[in-house]
Amino acid sequence: MLSVDEALARILAAAPSMPVQRVALENALNRVLADDLHARAPLPAFDYSAMDGFALAAADCVGAGPWSLPVVGESRTGHPTPRLEPQSACRIFTGATIPRGADAVLMQENALGSDGAPAARPGELERIQFEHPVRSGEHVRKAGEDLAAGSVGLARGTLLGPLSLGMAAALDHPEVPVSCSPRVMILSTGDELRRPGSTARPGAIPESNSFALAGLARAAGASVSCAPLVADDLEATLHAISTALEHFDVLITVGGVSVGDHDLVKPALEAAGVELDFWKVRIKPGKPLAFGQRGSRRVLGLPGNPMSAQITFCLFGLPLLRAMQGQLRPEPPTFRLPLLAAVSQRPGRRAYLAARQERDGVMPLGNKSSGNSVALAGADLLLVVPEDSAGLEAGALVDVVRVG
Ligand code: AMP
Ligand code: MG
Repeated sequence: MLSVDEALARILAAAPSMPVQRVALENALNRVLADDLHARAPLPAFDYSAMDGFALAAADCVGAGPWSLPVVGESRTGHPTPRLEPQSACRIFTGATIPRGADAVLMQENALGSDGAPAARPGELERIQFEHPVRSGEHVRKAGEDLAAGSVGLARGTLLGPLSLGMAAALDHPEVPVSCSPRVMILSTGDELRRPGSTARPGAIPESNSFALAGLARAAGASVSCAPLVADDLEATLHAISTALEHFDVLITVGGVSVGDHDLVKPALEAAGVELDFWKVRIKPGKPLAFGQRGSRRVLGLPGNPMSAQITFCLFGLPLLRAMQGQLRPEPPTFRLPLLAAVSQRPGRRAYLAARQERDGVMPLGNKSSGNSVALAGADLLLVVPEDSAGLEAGALVDVVRVG
């Protein structure tokens, strides 16, 4: 049986690359950048004022203060750059270009009227006085101080979240090259499953995994479809799998992958010509976990238990989708936090427990049953218990994985 890391490495190594397309920035959320995005102009594009106030030449503040300068002209945002008249100050606003000949900005809160008092309406001052010297460069943002023209603003492989889209727009790109979205089909199997809200019948439960998995996959840039629910029937399962493999890059099956008499996904995958790479991983929850391929298609067979399905999808499915799109770090985002309450565990398989980040560390949630999907719904982290560990002490620094 493979370890979690071995299984993940095999999945990532087998991830096919998606082709590249250009999409408008409006449609690029959650997509992966397929090429470096360069600054078309320096950022900022020109020297501008970081304050409302008065542009001046710092060299004009000679001798001891207070100093006094007449106000001549103004520099407004979006308007051509004026020239600073010698021995004067120019009214200026945040974001407006620095007048030629000026090299500093006196913020208007420090500009006094001729009576030496703060002005109620600084814009009406014909002459300003100020008591503190103004240094060259003060409140001036220099052209190119964030990014030189031509340099890389966003690197290939970046997941375009909201803040990256803002950056792409600031770099003056109306559209961006991204990896095509992997087309994902989610196929839920089980006689007991029914659509949420449909008529209840004895022993039946609402199908819930596909909603969680679809949302996770979409947030990772995939385009997702969900197949009609499939009964525990070999013919029906084989037919659904074969159809999905015609049209989708990634098939995610849910349920029926274990060793019960009615677990038919593995034989159906084999009958559909899928080469199974592995079907068990030393992980808890989620030991029965299958990965295989047919041509350029990839198949992940997840156990149906919601906790198992959703955790294994976060740990193996999302990295696969990220790697297919060329994302820089496709692995589950892992970091360390102090543990706020002890947990115990039977050694042998690496365990992932639903947990929540709190101000001072990570708090395990719910009980350890792999059936407890209520705990998972409130989780933003998975707490990692190493394979050989019988538990973790409160206060220990522990590995956590971000989910959702
Ligand atoms: P299985 O992996 O098919 O043995 O299913 C394990 C458990 O998960 C059983 O209790 C199933 O009823 C449940 N289950 C399977 N598939 C789903 C699903 N799509 N949504 C919710 N529960 C499921
Ligand atoms: Mg089942």
